[in-house]
Amino acid sequence: MSEGDCLFCKIRDQKIPAAVVYRDDDVLAFKDITPRAPLHLLVIPLRHIATLTDGLPEDAELLGKLMLTGARLAVEAGHGADGFRVVMNAGPNAGQSVLHVHLHVLAGRALAWPPG
Ligand code: AMP
Ligand code: ZN
Repeated sequence: MSEGDCLFCKIRDQKIPAAVVYRDDDVLAFKDITPRAPLHLLVIPLRHIATLTDGLPEDAELLGKLMLTGARLAVEAGHGADGFRVVMNAGPNAGQSVLHVHLHVLAGRALAWPPG
């Protein structure tokens, strides 16, 4: 899938709407359209990276920033004490359905382990 066809690039470019909760020069966070928990955010790099295995060594800081941003947003939403999960699906067996790297941030209920 090219960047031009990518759903999350379209959200980044405001060609389709999303409930954006945070944006800076590197990352964008918005509410998942089908929330699986009371808090369910997606944090994406602004730059199109299709899947985690496409990440390069020079992407380490950017990909780490996804994690730290997800954690900060979970805390800011009031889930620092009760806890949260950050998880990234990569490839078909993990259920990755959008080929633009995205970190799920889930909170607000007890989360089963292991996931599905
Ligand atoms: P994954 O299955 O890990 O690729 O996650 C893709 C996520 O994107 C799913 O949780 C979907 O609910 C979510 N999603 C799909 N379309 C949209 C959209 N237009 N706005 C927000 N989230 C979306
Ligand atoms: Zn994209």
